[in-house]
Amino acid sequence: MTEASPAISPSGDPWPHPRQRAWVEVCEAAVQRNARTLMRSLAPGCNLMAVVKADGYGHGAVPVARAAAAGGASCFGVATLQEGVELRQAGLLQPVLVLGNLTQPEELRACLHWQLMPTLSGMREALLCQNLAAGSGRPMAVQLKLDTGMARLGAPWQEGRRLVEAISGLEAVELAGLYSHLADADAPGLELDSLTALQQQRFEQVLIGVQQAGLASGCRHLANSAGTLRSAQLHYDMVRVGLALYGHRPALHLGADLELQPAMQVRARVSLIREVPAGVGVSYGHRFTTRRPSRLAVVGIGYADGVPRLLSNRLQVLHQGQLIPQVGAITMDQLVLDVTDQPAVEVGSVVTLLGEDGGAVIDPQAWSEPMGTIPWEILCGFKHRLPRLPQRCASGLMD
Ligand SMILES: *Cc1c(COP(=O)(O)O)cnc(C)c1O
Repeated sequence: MTEASPAISPSGDPWPHPRQRAWVEVCEAAVQRNARTLMRSLAPGCNLMAVVKADGYGHGAVPVARAAAAGGASCFGVATLQEGVELRQAGLLQPVLVLGNLTQPEELRACLHWQLMPTLSGMREALLCQNLAAGSGRPMAVQLKLDTGMARLGAPWQEGRRLVEAISGLEAVELAGLYSHLADADAPGLELDSLTALQQQRFEQVLIGVQQAGLASGCRHLANSAGTLRSAQLHYDMVRVGLALYGHRPALHLGADLELQPAMQVRARVSLIREVPAGVGVSYGHRFTTRRPSRLAVVGIGYADGVPRLLSNRLQVLHQGQLIPQVGAITMDQLVLDVTDQPAVEVGSVVTLLGEDGGAVIDPQAWSEPMGTIPWEILCGFKHRLPRLPQRCASGLMD
């Protein structure tokens, strides 16, 4: 991480990071508050897993995990072994579940070493774990995933009871959890849609079978953000929340009663201003031509930073609460704004691509909808090229 000086510049520049061309500001207090807000909305006794895969949905996994834990999250979900190791190396001690499938003995050995729980989709990996952990002195904690209608990871739900029984019989393996994943929990409407209801029914059927057989399932969990916001009936012992933790609702009809606070702001600086006559073609392919004498501002952020090129000529950014149109093709490292109507924008001015600026807000949905994608993909698009810096959070947030 690059330096993160919270100082306000002597010129009164309210932005704390005067030397960067572009950056992501992460409000850790917002993540903490969102975790607390979510905790309050859960069924009694239900735990919160903070899903911090994909580098905390682009926010930075370690600071986000710490903030979520401070807000009440009791464990973390990651997608890969590497993501789990990163949390351990940062000194985080909470339980970590690897949601992806680990297939190689070396990967499972690393899980044992770092005390990360792998997700099992069948006996193959369960037996690998048994072999690795036998003689190590402590049983290896694992979780079993069932496919109840997603057709991705997980064992067929019909085999759930039998697998729980078989895994329970492995003396070096401890079944710490039993879970499934919802495929369509953000479907329209507030009633449970038919697919979610079917998935829940199948999950229940396994749980009942396990209970009747006198077996322990460990922690039972089913809901992602959408399932969590949709119905307390989906909460069980724990919920696995990603998107909502970062302050975004998975669909407009879900979580409208919760005050979630977006944690990410993407900002960049104007590096050049140019005055051009009418009729000038801008950027690759001249996909925009000025229709009047124009003032153009070049901003140092592009698609290599996470601003999708598909938004060329469709993006808007904020400066002091005002929307400014982006023009021409978005390039790898730069984009161009038409600031003809914003004389206050000058070299060094900071514009906001996502997040809050001067009382106005740009949500990731403003990008994902015209692109035909989802806000998850927009947030994860911000990878390591941009420094992640702590944000001065909006006042009133540090309650
Ligand atoms: C990513 C993921 C989640 C979190 O999903 P959100 O919709 O972001 O809350 C939960 N469970 C599993 C298995 C996942 O892969």
